[in-house]
Amino acid sequence: MKDLERRVWLVTCTALLVFVVYETIKTVLFPNMSVVGSHVITVIVVSVLTFFVSRYALGRYGQALAETQRQTAITKNTNRLLAGVLATMREAVVIVDSQVRVALYNDAAAAMFKLPLTDAGRPRPGTAIDEASAEGLSLPRVQPTAVDPSTGTAGTAETTRTFRLTDVTRDPAINNAFRSVLEKRAPVELQVDVADREHRTFQLNVAPLGERLAVGVFFDISRLERLERVRREFFANLSHELRTPLTAMLACSETLKAGAIDDSANRLRFVETLHKHALRMNALISDISDLSAIESGQIELRLRPVRLRQAVADLVALAESRRTDSDLSFKISIPEKIIVQADKTRLDQILFNLIDNAVKFNRPGGSVNVGAEEKDGLVSITIADTGSGIAAVDLPRIFERLYRGDKSRSRKTEGAGLGLAIVKHLVHAHGGELFVVSELGRGSQFTFTLPIATQAE
Ligand code: ADP
Repeated sequence: MKDLERRVWLVTCTALLVFVVYETIKTVLFPNMSVVGSHVITVIVVSVLTFFVSRYALGRYGQALAETQRQTAITKNTNRLLAGVLATMREAVVIVDSQVRVALYNDAAAAMFKLPLTDAGRPRPGTAIDEASAEGLSLPRVQPTAVDPSTGTAGTAETTRTFRLTDVTRDPAINNAFRSVLEKRAPVELQVDVADREHRTFQLNVAPLGERLAVGVFFDISRLERLERVRREFFANLSHELRTPLTAMLACSETLKAGAIDDSANRLRFVETLHKHALRMNALISDISDLSAIESGQIELRLRPVRLRQAVADLVALAESRRTDSDLSFKISIPEKIIVQADKTRLDQILFNLIDNAVKFNRPGGSVNVGAEEKDGLVSITIADTGSGIAAVDLPRIFERLYRGDKSRSRKTEGAGLGLAIVKHLVHAHGGELFVVSELGRGSQFTFTLPIATQAE
């Protein structure tokens, strides 16, 4: 615009110069010209000069106006795109002004901090917006009414007010991070815990925006955190599970080496203990490699129709025969006609793990019921026991690798805590789902689904 003004001034001055030159030439060359003739010629010259100067100026201003309109259209489109990007972002974004008032937040932030949802961008009226605009930030139009964040309800124009970051979240870590960025104009990165519907962990990156604003982006890292915890616990549990048999094996072999090998009365006992623990380690390692093969999709299921009642009856007999000391009663309520589409070996593995757990964690004189019914094109199989039940804190975690609930009790039973992890993956590989319902002291009920066989066995 400045350049344009300069040019118009230049052209006007040139026109003035031309006029002065013309006047001088006219006076010098035609000193006797009549006043009327001189005026007529002067008017014509001035009109022509004015015409050209105006045409030049209007043309230039027209071009400048067209350029401004083009820029405005581009800005509007960019705003629309930015508002769309902000609205669809899974990360919560909050922009605050120099007074730590919220200037802008997106849908994810609205959901996270239970803020009112209006249209895209959701700026609040007030200086927050003015400052943002002063920073050259294009913000969507201010709402005519505002929403009180404490009640979440829309107010009238009179009750309209901006709200501070402390109204949005009381977390001192979040508030301090924004304040520090506004003061020091240097980015801050921190981890924060937010308890909304569930407890979630976020990585918060706050950075300066322009001269006076700060923008914070919340990345949800709860899943990563959980995976990291599971991984840490897996290795801790694995080393524990391996150490127990290994320590026993070392002790036995050292005793044998120290002379027990010549003790004909006891050496067999030591060798048997050695063998028992070697078997336990072997079972653990083969379970782990089996699980990793299933998890990485390396196993191939040979699906075929399987008569469910017979498969369950065989496994119940096996579980019974393995625990001759148990006085449990077993009941199978599976209609003869139910035929599932499954890999027989893997189905046996699923059923055996669940039935074995129902036996292992049962009470003396308790019962184990295995039932099945056809529902919505699937077969739903339930293994219910009258055992110890599972504590609510353990329930969401029993399907994790090597996780064992109630450690004191579980340690007494054999098994490393891999059974349910294997069962879960095998059920999923068959296209089914696995659920558990349990009540401490009353028993547990594991239910899984399998597809019905399309043709007879
Ligand atoms: P394991 O039986 O080798 O300990 P699982 O993966 O089969 O490992 O089970 C994990 C944990 O879940 C067990 O340690 C136990 O605490 C709990 N659990 C599984 N089934 C039952 C059940 N039927 N009753 C009570 N607790 C159970």
